[in-house]
This record gives sequence, C-alpha cells and structure tokens, in this order.
Amino acid sequence: MKRVAKTKENLKKCRCSDCPSYTLGCKLKNYPLNFVRMIDGLDNLEHFEGMFCAYGASTCIAEDKGCLCEDCAVFHENALNRAEYCLPTQKNSARCQGAQCQA
Ligand code: SF4
Ligand code: SF4
Repeated sequence: MKRVAKTKENLKKCRCSDCPSYTLGCKLKNYPLNFVRMIDGLDNLEHFEGMFCAYGASTCIAEDKGCLCEDCAVFHENALNRAEYCLPTQKNSARCQGAQCQA
C-alpha cells in the first residue's frame, strides 16, 4: 500500500462525509475545526478529521455503522486493502472493535 497523498483532489473524492459511521455529532464537532486546519494546507497537517486512510484514525468516530471506502476512487487508485480507516486498530484502544484490532 502506498502513502495516500494529502491533497484537495483526494479529499474531494473521499466518501467519509457521506458515511453512516461519520455521525452528525462528529461532523458538527469537526467541520469547523477542519475548516481552520485547512488554512495551513492539507499536506502540512498531522491530523484531519476526514480522509482517514491518509491522516489516521478519527478522534471522534467510535462505531462501525458501515464504510464507503470500497466505493471511493482513492481506495482503488492507491490499492488500499481494508475498510474503516477512521477506527483505531490498536487492541488497547477503548474505541477499537472487531477483527481489525491488533496488538
Ligand atoms: S473510513 Fe470508511 S467507515 Fe470511516 S468514515 Fe470513512 S468511509 Fe466511513
Ligand atoms: S478510502 Fe476511505 S478514508 Fe480514504 S479517501 Fe476514500 S472514503 Fe476516505
């Protein structure tokens, strides 16, 4: 898997904002902050609440209610191989769930 580029083009293709796992509460919490973060330029950001395959797990999304990654162009263009990039994968995280949790 190659590194997903943190670009506006990829962000436009990202399906996370339409995903049922990205709850309204998380959107209300994160969208204003995301707007401020974007001023620094997407490529300079350590974290962004969206395009989770590039920025890592969400600090808000906690439950798998479905995932649209496999319908996303970024997923196919970058040969990604799993879903729910918004959810943590560390077993010791309280928010980790299901088979993706690893030690
Ligand atoms: S990574 Fe997948 S599950 Fe998470 S918000 Fe994006 S599309 Fe939904
Ligand atoms: S693969 Fe998933 S996390 Fe990555 S840009 Fe697409 S919808 Fe967003």
